[in-house]
Amino acid sequence: MELVLAWYDVREHRPGRLRPCGNDECRLFLLDRSRANTARRCSMKTCGNRLKARRHQERARRG
Ligand SMILES: [Zn+2]
Repeated sequence: MELVLAWYDVREHRPGRLRPCGNDECRLFLLDRSRANTARRCSMKTCGNRLKARRHQERARRG
């Protein structure tokens, strides 16, 4: 129930769009304040970089 209330609170009081993080392994939500509506990760420093690093690893492993 608290989660629902928090969701409404964000939607009512904060500008921007709330959506799930684009990282499948992440359960956080992100608040997109960009005009272009292009934000996909909750945080570029955490999820964005982690995803990039993992892709790089997979590619390296296959040679
Ligand atoms: Zn995330």
